[in-house]
Amino acid sequence: MSPIQTTDYSHQITCIDTHYQRPNLAACYLIESAGEAVFIDTGTSHTVPHLMDVLAAKGISSSQVKYVIPTHVHLDHAGGAGTLMQQLPNASLLIHPFGAKHMIDPSKLIAGATAVYGEEKFSAAFGELVAVDEQRVIEVPDGMRVTFGDRELLCLDTPGHARHHICIHDALSGAIFTGDTFGLSYREFDTEQGPFIMPTTTPIQFDLDTWQVTLDRLMDLSPERIFLTHYGEVTEPAMLADKLSQYLDDFAAIARAADANPGQARIAVIRNELQQWLINKLQAHGCKQSPETIVQLMSMDLDLNAQGLEVWLAREEKE
Ligand SMILES: [Zn+2]
Repeated sequence: MSPIQTTDYSHQITCIDTHYQRPNLAACYLIESAGEAVFIDTGTSHTVPHLMDVLAAKGISSSQVKYVIPTHVHLDHAGGAGTLMQQLPNASLLIHPFGAKHMIDPSKLIAGATAVYGEEKFSAAFGELVAVDEQRVIEVPDGMRVTFGDRELLCLDTPGHARHHICIHDALSGAIFTGDTFGLSYREFDTEQGPFIMPTTTPIQFDLDTWQVTLDRLMDLSPERIFLTHYGEVTEPAMLADKLSQYLDDFAAIARAADANPGQARIAVIRNELQQWLINKLQAHGCKQSPETIVQLMSMDLDLNAQGLEVWLAREEKE
């Protein structure tokens, strides 16, 4: 595995590459304050040795970590939580109430992810999923404030990408740690126009309308910066939120316009349209990457987004 890649930001925030799939695809965060620390997102079980190395390099002992806070239970964010908790004797796991049972008994997560990724890819990508002791799990209601060191974090219930999603606002840095709720923005697509951002509509709980409400709620906090899991820090949140909101509508329109039988055939149509949309948007954004490179970098996201839009569309049609 390549060496640990970390970026230190102001206010004792460190971005750590989880090495999920490839470098610069998924991050998690360490925040310190007055002798205590928290992790936001964990990567997979393969990431955990890295996280322990980062603690050691910073002179933080495993007993000083007070909270582990996965933004939601999708496995690129929370897959390593159980393994990490085993190494942190004083930590509690903070998690959305809808996610708690899956951290205590990960069997449904394993089954769900195996259905999406296939068995072979599952174990290569995520390794082992370790259950978290129920006594160490704290369910986070909307608006819960947690303190560590002399710092306070505000946890918000933020459905849209998933119903088990929370975002974490850090007043000290003016940042929100958004998991997947502020979409994804890979640094490879930065241009003179700034970062390129887009929704991530992963199966199976993407919901257009609640996501739009959630976005407004996040912007009501007037954040100065956003820390994304995919990937790193972006600034100018208001401008990006406008884009994200438009693109959510674009994605929904692409799904609704897909003229094919529900299921695999429609997923293929949606995926094709998303791919064309992405290439067009990136070219308009001044991106110099070739369409082939774009498709290669985004292939997993295109698959997941198409699958998630199909699930959403099928649910809408039923209702
Ligand atoms: Zn997710």
